[in-house]
Amino acid sequence: MSRAPRGAKRSPTPTSATFPDFPVSPQAPAPPAPGAPDGKPLYLCSPFVEAALVKGNFKTIVMLPKYVDIMEWVAMNIYDFYNNLNEFYGVISECCTNTSCPKMCAGPTLNYTWINQERKSVHLPAPTYIDYVMTWVQNLLEDESVFPTKSGHDFPPSFPATVKHVYRQLLRVFAHIYHSHYAQILHLRSEPHFNSLFAHFLAFGREYELLEMKDVKGAPGAPVGIGALYDKWREMGTVEA
Ligand SMILES: [Zn+2]
Repeated sequence: MSRAPRGAKRSPTPTSATFPDFPVSPQAPAPPAPGAPDGKPLYLCSPFVEAALVKGNFKTIVMLPKYVDIMEWVAMNIYDFYNNLNEFYGVISECCTNTSCPKMCAGPTLNYTWINQERKSVHLPAPTYIDYVMTWVQNLLEDESVFPTKSGHDFPPSFPATVKHVYRQLLRVFAHIYHSHYAQILHLRSEPHFNSLFAHFLAFGREYELLEMKDVKGAPGAPVGIGALYDKWREMGTVEA
C-alpha cells in the first residue's frame, strides 16, 4: 500500500475544517490583556474554559483508525497540529514581538530557554524562539528520511524520539500563546477553535505517550500556566483522567 502525500489527508481535527473562518480581521488591534478580578488567567475562567467546537471527550478522535499504520497516524496528526498551530500563531504574531515578549514565557515564573549550537542554554525573545521551533519542525516534516511519505520508505527507528521532541516544543508554543496572548485569541473569538486544537493535541499526546507530564505541569517553583488548564479539562472530562 502506498502512502499518499501527507498534505492530501486530513485527520478528523474539527479545528482543521473550521479554522480558516476567522470572524474578525487579524489586523484588528487586540485589547489589553485583562485578567479575572482574582488574578486567575482568563483561559481558566468560564465561559472560555468550556469553549470548544466539540463537546465531550476527545478520546474517540485520537483512536487509531482500522488498517492505518500507527506511525503514519502519528505523522499525519503531527502534520496537522503543526499547521493549525502555525496558522494561529501567524494571526497573533504581530502582537508577539521582542518588546512584548522578550522571553519565551509560559507562566509567571517560567521562561523557556533554547539550547544553541554551542550547547548553551540561552534566553530568546518569544518570536525568535517560536520561529526556531516552527522552522525546525517544518524542515523535519519536509525531510523524507524523517517523515517518509513515499511508498517503500519506512519510518526511521529514531521516529518515536523525534516526535516526542517535536511534541514538547509545540507544547511550549501552545503554552506561550495561552500565557501571553489569550486576550488576542478571545478578541478574534477563536477560543473554541484554539481550545479544541489544544485539547486534541493533549488527548493525542496522552494516547500515544508523546507528552511528558512534567512538560505539561512544569516544576513546582515554575509551573506552566496550561498545567492548570489540563487539570480543569480532566475534571470536566474533556481529556482523559
Ligand atoms: Zn508572545
